[in-house]
Amino acid sequence: DLPSVILVGRPNVGKSALFNRLIRRREALVFNTPDDHVTRDIREGVAKLSDLRFKVLDSAGLEMAATSGSILDRTAAMIAKVLNRSQFAIFLIDARVGLHPMDMEVGRWLRKYAPQIKPIVVMNKSEAFNDDSSSLVAVATEARKLGFGEPIAISAETGLGMAELYKSLRPLL
Ligand code: GDP
Ligand code: MG
Repeated sequence: DLPSVILVGRPNVGKSALFNRLIRRREALVFNTPDDHVTRDIREGVAKLSDLRFKVLDSAGLEMAATSGSILDRTAAMIAKVLNRSQFAIFLIDARVGLHPMDMEVGRWLRKYAPQIKPIVVMNKSEAFNDDSSSLVAVATEARKLGFGEPIAISAETGLGMAELYKSLRPLL
């Protein structure tokens, strides 16, 4: 069985864009995780990054539960179940925004529901900093406050940083 990596982060950080880049033309499987109020779609596909192959999950939907503050017990159980399908996680933030309070919330949520996962933090949309690396260093300093180690600068849109992402994933998978 392929190892499995879940993409986590608040809405709009670029989880789906990274998912699409990683699976490229391969097909995504959509499955539902019913909870108390809504049916949340989770997309799963086979990612290929150079010679690495792994299952990738786009956690859209869980993001709302993660950032809405109070989570019902049954919803929490559902989240834990989805998270526990994965051994690894990529935690996206928006480099242009910097560290947002909701990012800290996602970090707390990960520690609570998936303490076994130590995510790789990526600063997405970093292509916006092409000629301003000092600003990106400042974002990295903030991102370290999440407590998950050294962040990587990527762009799901342009492919910037995919070699760095590969280097971080390779020893894990
Ligand atoms: P999600 O809500 O986390 O799944 O985020 P999406 O993948 O839907 O992306 C949210 C918005 O950010 C969209 O308008 C994307 O086009 C944009 N976006 C995603 N990745 C990048 C990136 O690397 N650079 C830039 N500039 N925009 C991006
Ligand atoms: Mg999405």
